[in-house]
Amino acid sequence: MPNIEAGTSYFGVRDPEHAETDLDRFSDAGLDAVLHTFSERDREFYRETMADIVAASHDRSLSVYVNPWGVGGVFGGEAFSRFVARNPDSRQVLNTGERVSAACFNDPAFREFVREWTHDAAGLGADVLFWDEPHWHNVHWYGDDHPNDVWCCRCEHCRGLYRERYDESMPATETERVSTFREESMLDFLDEMMALTRDEGAENAVCLMPTQSADHGPRDWAQLAKNDHIDVLATDPYWAAFTEDAEPGEYVARFGKELVEITDDHDLRSQLWIQGFGLRGDSAPDDVRTATRTALDLADSVFMWGYDGCRAISKIACAEPMAVWEAYLDELP
Ligand SMILES: [Zn+2]
Repeated sequence: MPNIEAGTSYFGVRDPEHAETDLDRFSDAGLDAVLHTFSERDREFYRETMADIVAASHDRSLSVYVNPWGVGGVFGGEAFSRFVARNPDSRQVLNTGERVSAACFNDPAFREFVREWTHDAAGLGADVLFWDEPHWHNVHWYGDDHPNDVWCCRCEHCRGLYRERYDESMPATETERVSTFREESMLDFLDEMMALTRDEGAENAVCLMPTQSADHGPRDWAQLAKNDHIDVLATDPYWAAFTEDAEPGEYVARFGKELVEITDDHDLRSQLWIQGFGLRGDSAPDDVRTATRTALDLADSVFMWGYDGCRAISKIACAEPMAVWEAYLDELP
């Protein structure tokens, strides 16, 4: 497996001198790539700092991915969105009419905001912009007591576009047509941002969650894979986060095979993410070893979320974070 890219996500450290000691460790461990999170806060306050950290990564021959960490509340990550706080009218609307704390993919102000983010993220010197877990807001992730069948988004922009497209008003229940509209809205958003990314000289990776819900983008991943601007299609089969009791190797293999079938068909690179957060119990290091070996057998690129088993994020840290991290590194070629 000599040509497989191996990497990790990196976050939370904004002092370049401290970051360099971590980047040295990654490089010494044989990693080829690092993903730097670039939240709304980073963009506002740490832009030049982040450019320095990106440059320090390149100095160590690491390819650099950059992601919109929690931007607008519609991408994955432990970061809050000031855009949402400042632009309450850009928020998604539940089918019940209630506004939620995430921006709408069809909202013109949010699209302009993400165009600006894209310009700045590419401007850091990123090799790849990593569109991580784009999703419509799911109230149930936040311990909410809404009924099961609520969905987003039914804001004025979504309703207007739906009417333009189908010449009927948008239903309040999620019909197949509504699901399709939700998928296509996200694909249209990603298409615009990925085209811009290419113009800015970077590549595009999109990480889709391992589900078959229109909450999380295209139910059929090929819909995204056929886009002209995508280079890497990724998924993150986090067995202990998204399932009750999946066997790690089986779970990674199931989605990994589905992924690789599609990337082969569309001449894209495939990428699998290994869970390195929230793992409890004695089997965690062995589970990571199994998942990593499975991923290496399938994909062109394998990453862990995140470095040191998320030791520094207490809420999601693994119980034995360094054992998880070492298990991952140990399985790499
Ligand atoms: Zn909307």
